[in-house]
Amino acid sequence: MKKTKKASKAKKPRVGIQSITGCAGCQLSLYFIEDVLLELFDKIELVAAPMIKGKNEEENYDILFVEGSVSSKEDLENLLKWRKQAKFLIALGACASHGCMQSMKHMMHEEEVEAAVYNKFPSDKRLKPITAVPLHKHVQVDFYIPGCPPDKEEIERVLKWLLQGIKPRVYDKAVCHECSLKENYCLLDQGIECLGPLMNGGCKALCPDYNHPCTGCRGMLDDANLKSGKEILRDKGFDPDLMIKRMTKYNTLQFMEFESKPKEEKK
Ligand code: SF4
Ligand code: SF4
Ligand code: SF4
Repeated sequence: MKKTKKASKAKKPRVGIQSITGCAGCQLSLYFIEDVLLELFDKIELVAAPMIKGKNEEENYDILFVEGSVSSKEDLENLLKWRKQAKFLIALGACASHGCMQSMKHMMHEEEVEAAVYNKFPSDKRLKPITAVPLHKHVQVDFYIPGCPPDKEEIERVLKWLLQGIKPRVYDKAVCHECSLKENYCLLDQGIECLGPLMNGGCKALCPDYNHPCTGCRGMLDDANLKSGKEILRDKGFDPDLMIKRMTKYNTLQFMEFESKPKEEKK
């Protein structure tokens, strides 16, 4: 009997990227791995990528990257909708992971910010934003790739791990770790206010490598010793107000959570 050979077509994982409020730089970082993406097109179905695709699907994602912070009602509606459709949701970038610069509004008066930005618009035509928060304030997040913008090699690594069924690993050492491995001359010892000891690394100490102080685009370490950090920076003669501005540039909510702790719990 003649054997009939049925082509067994394995189902490819459905991968998407979606955006809420941000600058779209994270999405761009993902497209910087275009050679890898092209290579992966054999293995994945890129079902949503609004920057490069005209038609984008909104359901059944195996892996979904979301960039941006929740800063409007529309953002929230979209995020809740996508979460229901995603098996594995990745917060991509500083906005999605920590709230980033737009969350600085938590320390300001909404009316003043709106007046500064939308002064020329009548108040009934304004956007009525909500104060920006990262994704995990509203939905469960399965993994974070922080950074502003995130490192394209990290995106590539995480995507490949997931496609191989490997649980992605979190980088949990301070920026100083990689900076010391590179034998950089510490900026703090040169009188430059670097926040590396308090911030999550994994960026290969990108900024200090170019003599630029770290301002924490990858978020504060979970066990950051903010109290000692602030003391060290003060003892080195750095302006405490400037330090707070630097710490809150990307991480206002993390900073506020620390500040609101009872004195004895602050470390
Ligand atoms: S994290 Fe940075 S690069 Fe990404 S959307 Fe936000 S501001 Fe843009
Ligand atoms: S330059 Fe910054 S990141 Fe590097 S070791 Fe000094 S404090 Fe740490
Ligand atoms: S050194 Fe700091 S600010 Fe620069 S990329 Fe790394 S975490 Fe971000």
